[in-house]
Amino acid sequence: MKKGLELESINSWLHTKRPIIISGPCSAETEEQMVATAKQIAATNRVHAIRAGIWKPRTRPGQYEGAGEEGLKWLIQAKKETGLPVTTEVANAAHVEACLKAGVDILWVGARTTVNPFSVQEIADALKGVNIPVMVKNPVNPDLELWIGALERLSKAGITKLAAIHRGFSSFEKGPFRNAPMWDMSIELKTRFPDLDIICDPSHISGNRELIAMISQKALDLDMDGLMIESHINPDAAWSDAKQQVTPAALAKIIDGLVVRQVSSESKTFKDTLSVLRDQIDHLDDEIMQKLAARMKISEKIGQYKKENNVTILQVGRWEEIVQTRVALGKAMGLDEGFTRDVLRLVHHESIQVQTKVMNKAEERV
Ligand code: PEP
Ligand code: MN
Repeated sequence: MKKGLELESINSWLHTKRPIIISGPCSAETEEQMVATAKQIAATNRVHAIRAGIWKPRTRPGQYEGAGEEGLKWLIQAKKETGLPVTTEVANAAHVEACLKAGVDILWVGARTTVNPFSVQEIADALKGVNIPVMVKNPVNPDLELWIGALERLSKAGITKLAAIHRGFSSFEKGPFRNAPMWDMSIELKTRFPDLDIICDPSHISGNRELIAMISQKALDLDMDGLMIESHINPDAAWSDAKQQVTPAALAKIIDGLVVRQVSSESKTFKDTLSVLRDQIDHLDDEIMQKLAARMKISEKIGQYKKENNVTILQVGRWEEIVQTRVALGKAMGLDEGFTRDVLRLVHHESIQVQTKVMNKAEERV
């Protein structure tokens, strides 16, 4: 067992090399739309599996909720006509049974299902003894434990062909993305499970076809293993997620524009140069740690002094002055303002903790 999940890499179950490309419509709408889209996708020769939603969990009622079991037949027809494996979303045991019966090759658990351990367990139980590949989308909320929990439930049911799909996180604030990418979540998942393949879904992150190429490139630069991109023969007329779907021709263009980087290079010059630069980073990190420790020691002294003089820990005026001067300094040195603010916030938070400890420490009695 590698770090708790026994895994077979996606390359082994899709018989291909990274990056894995999965594409197809958001929803299977009609047999014609499904099969025609799949054929055009297959003709690009750039796609390893076809996706389509059959049961669509819509946030609000009154929208297209998928073709249901009838649509499974169209998906299987698409598989027959293209020779490509097919994948769809399952949200309960009945969906799993219908997919297994129909011959769907890969299943995925949607973002609205990953949030619910009861549903994930129901899916896992329905899959006991059937080692079919399953991809688990991140939950709609940025809860890494919930995402890992869903993967673990499937792993415990005996699924070894597991992958994660990063599709971004909903938030109240409307940003440039439909679902904020919060890349740190995937970076942390990869750090905790280095053998787990992660596929990025730039379509649901962006909600807008213009951003798909940029997000896809970012995902590959972060060493993700594949992409799941929604495509449709007539995107603007799609019954769900119209704005984010692309034509198969546009899909091919996006894929051709991607720069696929290697995790490493065998070149000696590359290795030597990288090693020199890493030494410099190590040295600077040492200095940063020493300076941070020295700064906290002074915070301790300040805490003691404030205590003796009965003065509050938080001094809003001083804090504002620190932020203003340091942000200006950082900008002058080419540092991003948001980054400087984040670092200062963390340092200030820790300084307050240190001072609080000093303040609350009972006086030693002699
Ligand atoms: C989808 O893939 O069409 C879908 C519904 O995605 P998500 O679960 O990420 O919202
Ligand atoms: Mn969709």
